[in-house]
Amino acid sequence: MNSIQRRASKRIYVGQVPIGGGAPIVVQSMTNTDTRDVNATVNQIRRLEEAGCEIVRVAVPDREAARAIKKIKERIRLPLIADIHFDYRLALEALEAGADGLRINPGNIGGSQALKAVAREASERKVPIRVGVNAGSLDKKVVAAHGGITPEAMVTSALEAIHLLEDQGFYDLKVSLKASDVLLMVEAYRLLAEKVNYPFHLGVTEAGPPLAGAVKSAVGIGILLSQGIGDTIRVSLTGDPVLEVEVAYQILRSLGLRQRGIELISCPTCGRCQIELENLVAEVEKKIKGLPYPLRVAVMGCAVNGPGEASQADVGIAGGRGWGLLFREGKPIRRVPESQLVDALMEEIDKIVREREGENA
Ligand code: SF4
Repeated sequence: MNSIQRRASKRIYVGQVPIGGGAPIVVQSMTNTDTRDVNATVNQIRRLEEAGCEIVRVAVPDREAARAIKKIKERIRLPLIADIHFDYRLALEALEAGADGLRINPGNIGGSQALKAVAREASERKVPIRVGVNAGSLDKKVVAAHGGITPEAMVTSALEAIHLLEDQGFYDLKVSLKASDVLLMVEAYRLLAEKVNYPFHLGVTEAGPPLAGAVKSAVGIGILLSQGIGDTIRVSLTGDPVLEVEVAYQILRSLGLRQRGIELISCPTCGRCQIELENLVAEVEKKIKGLPYPLRVAVMGCAVNGPGEASQADVGIAGGRGWGLLFREGKPIRRVPESQLVDALMEEIDKIVREREGENA
């Protein structure tokens, strides 16, 4: 059960997707294709959407990339955010091309006149801006004033950037305070949460290769979400961004904040394990991938303890010698030959789904 009290934040919209103000926490990712390569970018965005990504960001390093947004947008359904550094003209072109959101650093976009132009154009098109502060690129003066890259330095930097936009009458904002140091990032978001009510985009930046990056992201993002802080998340991993989306949902699911598809739980196995569990888990994982049912399914190593240990699962199987046990909510249903265990589980999943549909009809 979800008992997390979410921080009250302002609601903004990226395209049709609400962020903040109590909306479900939004999962986003970023393409790693060359944005100018429209086909490759569209294909990756479609794969991201299939995995559950709700907003996608693309890098806009030059005018060609900014213009490509128009063609990309014609072929995708997800709202698209243009990621821009240094050159405000790219932001204007991205808006012209139909970007649904901008990610900029107001401090490095080309001065106050440039920022004014971007804010005016974004405001007219009702396009929100993310103020993205990154610990690695803080203003030297701010770092010196705070005696280093501290949470306070990050917050000062964010507030300066927010004020620059507010001075232009622009309030359609969300904020990120990314760092690759988990404690730094956690503390920075916590401090800023006391000062503004804009929605927060959470992320640990340069998190690393998949395993290390997933753990680091889960710790940083998870700590904040567990305290109710955060409105949209992006897990940064080196590699295929589809994995970022899968990890993001694992984080949200483990905190009871979002449920997408089947949650698979399995035991770590121990000396009582009576079945080749790793292969069995992989087989079940393959079969349930992409199924949209909000169920918890367990695959356990022994029939003696498995059903009890997985009593919170809706349905599960537990191994025996040559046979296994099918169970629901911790209670055995029947013994099944080992070779038929996965099929029996899939049939039972179907049955539960039909029962629930019947109840809701
Ligand atoms: Fe060990 Fe059985 Fe528990 Fe798995 S379910 S950890 S095999 S006791």
